[in-house]
Amino acid sequence: MHQLKFIVISLVLVPAVHLVYASYNGEKKQDNTYENLTEQGSYDFIVVGSGPGGGTVATRLALRGFKVLLIEAGKDYDTRNTSIPGLWPNSVNDDEMRWDMKAYLFNNSAQQSTEQILYPRASLLGGCSMHNVMIALSAHPLDWDKMAKLLDDESWNFKNMQKYRHIVENCEYCSKKNKTKFRGWLNISVPQIPIKKDVKLISLFDTITEQLVYNPDVNHNNTYESWFLGADLITKETATRSSIYQRIKEVQKLRPKNLHVWTNTFVMKIIIENKQARGVNYVKGSDLYSASPKSTIDQRNRSSQRQYSIYAKYDVIISGGAFNTPQILQLSGIGNKKLLKKYNIKVKENLAGVGRNMQDHHEVTYILKMKQNWTLLKGCIFGANNSDPCLAEYYKTRKNVYANNGNLLLASRSPSMNLTSATPNYLTVNSAETHSKNNMGTVEIKSKDPFQTPLIQFQLFNEQDDDLSRIVQNLRYIRKLLNRKPLSNYIEEEVLPGSNVTSTADLEEHIRKNVYGHHACCSSKMGLSSDKMAVVDSKGRVRNIKNLRIVDNSIFPIALGWFPMLPIYMASEKLADDIATHYGK
Ligand SMILES: Cc1cc2nc3c(=O)[nH]c(=O)nc-3n(C[C@H](O)[C@H](O)[C@H](O)COP(=O)(O)OP(=O)(O)OC[C@H]3O[C@@H](n4cnc5c(N)ncnc54)[C@H](O)[C@@H]3O)c2cc1C
Repeated sequence: MHQLKFIVISLVLVPAVHLVYASYNGEKKQDNTYENLTEQGSYDFIVVGSGPGGGTVATRLALRGFKVLLIEAGKDYDTRNTSIPGLWPNSVNDDEMRWDMKAYLFNNSAQQSTEQILYPRASLLGGCSMHNVMIALSAHPLDWDKMAKLLDDESWNFKNMQKYRHIVENCEYCSKKNKTKFRGWLNISVPQIPIKKDVKLISLFDTITEQLVYNPDVNHNNTYESWFLGADLITKETATRSSIYQRIKEVQKLRPKNLHVWTNTFVMKIIIENKQARGVNYVKGSDLYSASPKSTIDQRNRSSQRQYSIYAKYDVIISGGAFNTPQILQLSGIGNKKLLKKYNIKVKENLAGVGRNMQDHHEVTYILKMKQNWTLLKGCIFGANNSDPCLAEYYKTRKNVYANNGNLLLASRSPSMNLTSATPNYLTVNSAETHSKNNMGTVEIKSKDPFQTPLIQFQLFNEQDDDLSRIVQNLRYIRKLLNRKPLSNYIEEEVLPGSNVTSTADLEEHIRKNVYGHHACCSSKMGLSSDKMAVVDSKGRVRNIKNLRIVDNSIFPIALGWFPMLPIYMASEKLADDIATHYGK
């Protein structure tokens, strides 16, 4: 398999809040007898979770003429932190939308840290697409082809999947020749960086160009060693975040009868009768899940006294993301029977693969302290209050440093990594290993209580993989790349890992202490019927349970490409197409 290194270099910026709560209606109260109700609801499809996976499949099915209910645990919450690209770090820290998941990175039996790390997630309309860094990279062509082969389904190959990229993406950076193909709803642009304003920035770009070829058409051809300006999910004209949130709003306006959205609605389990999914049980209320910093037991108890059910004419589609989808399935009786029996959950289908095969991209930061502050960020306080001069300039021009997410440039090289950066006098480089070998991650319920978070274990760095040594290589490469003239003239010192950390053993120790990830995936994978660990088939249908599908980052058998969001949007459009065709529209 090809190996790719991937580099992103960026200056990071930062936020305040106001709330908009959506109201909902039409549900049926059902007094704890929901297990016995069998009548049909008025929706063709019920989609649980409104991130890139669920939001995309729901909007497309609504546009194809179906009646769709999109259920989201979080709020309808669009603030300046979620919309102004430079303020994204504030959204990650916002209590109104944070789900602080905790994960064990390592196998407890190995002599490695057994402490849990914070694994941030966002729960609101739009899911993690509302707090993430907005980097938009398609998967490597060979990833799609490998997946098509694994699934024995050519509709997943690179050539066919490009069709869906054209449906999703509105491409600002593509060459004229390619641009005409793109007719999408998701705006992707390259950063407008006032490079000339900062001599250190010029030196950074000069240093990189010395060693890697510039590739202007980022996503069209990122298969060779090159650097490019970060492709970001930003609408150039307004300089605001482009995500599934805007798409949901747009489709609601276009097709108000086809797309109903219920926010502040938490799905507890799927209603399954005779091996067929009929609907879901849910409760109403905000901040119920214990991962929310605002969640309280009192609040949860009050809420769980009132459970409701809603039924679908066709399918229930679960799109809760890589952690919550396996949790919802397990709570509903689909999963490893030993685990389900441990918590006294009636087994509806013994599927060993639920919550297995979890993977991620492994990130480690490399930080350089500069001799002087970046002039580009002068005076910026990242929206800490309304007197922020950079905020005023942003509103006036839509072109200043807040108009982008802080990622300056990305580069790919064999094997894989990425760089990011921060604060006035530091350059932070984010090294991301992609195409990692480890697929031993697990998600398991640790209680019957739907509001409790599951046990999440990545089990990194095993004997079977060489991920650790590849990350060591990445760090060494970045060090070599950036400690050259002219950039080196402006560097005061290496802060992380530190110039004294040079031996393989020391670098490995540094990595074990500092590694993290944001792209958890593959925990309910697609696969052939002969694969006992497969949870869904190549159309997203859960094995042996009728009318139940999964559409989100959990279904991929392998971690796609470099950044998952664009591939999820594409895959979700593809599955929506498959579903609509199946039901004759
Ligand atoms: C800090 C951070 C930065 C990132 N940066 C990037 C980036 O720059 N580029 C990139 O490509 N990717 C990035 N990612 C990853 C990317 O955002 C995710 O992979 C992607 O959003 C996953 O989409 P999804 O639809 O599978 O799930 P999610 O986006 O997690 O959406 C799941 C939704 O389901 C809802 N839900 C869950 N359980 C229930 C329930 N029981 N009832 C009702 N609703 C429920 C949740 O509230 C949530 O809104 C980043 C992630 C993080 C955390």
